[in-house]
Amino acid sequence: MNWKKLVLPHILKLQAYSSARDEFSGDAKVFLDANENPFDEEQNNWNRYPDPLQKNLKAELEKIKGIAAENMFLGNGSDEAIDLLFRIFCKAGESNVITCPPTYGMYKVSSAIHNVENVEVPLTPEFQLDVKNILDAVNESTKLLFICTPNNPTGNSLRKDSILEILETYPGIVIIDEAYIDFSKEESWIKELDQYPNLVILQTLSKAWGLASARLGIAYANTELIKLLNKVKAPYNISGPSQKVVLEALQNPEIFKKQLKIILSERDRLQVALQDIPSVKKVYESDANFLLVKINQAKDLYQKLIEKEIVIRDRSNVQLCDDCLRITVGTEEENKHLIKNLQLLLID
Ligand SMILES: *Cc1c(COP(=O)(O)O)cnc(C)c1O
Repeated sequence: MNWKKLVLPHILKLQAYSSARDEFSGDAKVFLDANENPFDEEQNNWNRYPDPLQKNLKAELEKIKGIAAENMFLGNGSDEAIDLLFRIFCKAGESNVITCPPTYGMYKVSSAIHNVENVEVPLTPEFQLDVKNILDAVNESTKLLFICTPNNPTGNSLRKDSILEILETYPGIVIIDEAYIDFSKEESWIKELDQYPNLVILQTLSKAWGLASARLGIAYANTELIKLLNKVKAPYNISGPSQKVVLEALQNPEIFKKQLKIILSERDRLQVALQDIPSVKKVYESDANFLLVKINQAKDLYQKLIEKEIVIRDRSNVQLCDDCLRITVGTEEENKHLIKNLQLLLID
């Protein structure tokens, strides 16, 4: 399949904006090229425009992920990459994309923003891909397919054989969203990038890396598709302060590893504690940092927890998730506090 045929013609032709930092990025004594304020009182370079291609961050990510910088795009959260994929491939009022609910809500919002039809092919009752129905839903206007694994809000990983079948047969761009991959026992799909030019993988530093506030999402894809993403993005899409904070975190991965270990053991503990509560009908297996819980009177319980100043996520109106609440794994103390309050509420 030639994925380039899916790109909107005006995007292929687009001449990207060339910023001052694109045209000169080496060392010099005097920078009078970008109309910046010359004063740097705090000595932190906040008066200067940041690196548009975030080379320092990509160099660290190369080491951690084992993927070349030229196969990486960095965005203002994964949400930016999702938005740009619509801009590159989808024509308003004409193209369509496929999503598999229950899943991450942003795919649907992004398709609505771009006036692109969102064709929903629900997961099976076991929360797995319905490959036959996905392939049946494809027509000549289909451009993108969003697959989220581990999936949000269900927490499970999608079966490898189903994803492989889709990669082999689906004629559009396949986007695998791995926001929760660090919590998973399954391997990332990034090793398959070489095999599939129509594959885009999304990861984020918002979850396991503890940097939701820094807004840093990663898209991995073939080098030409990465060039298109860079062409379409805002020139300075990752701020200087974010680049600094993220670089420090990536250079100190032992903090991330330590926290990840705690979150995973807390997930197991929380799962057992929830299963011991009589109103809990089911705690779904999770490969992520949250648990989907089927429970009697979910909505009511959600409200009562808010009165106790504990906020979880009500997913009971989501298809296939009747009576379900989504609970993020917190610190040991937070999880104990939640369990104690649940026990009290469910006795009354
Ligand atoms: C949280 C989440 C993201 C992260 O989005 P950012 O914009 O990177 O913070 C992406 N995909 C899924 C499925 C998520 O749950």
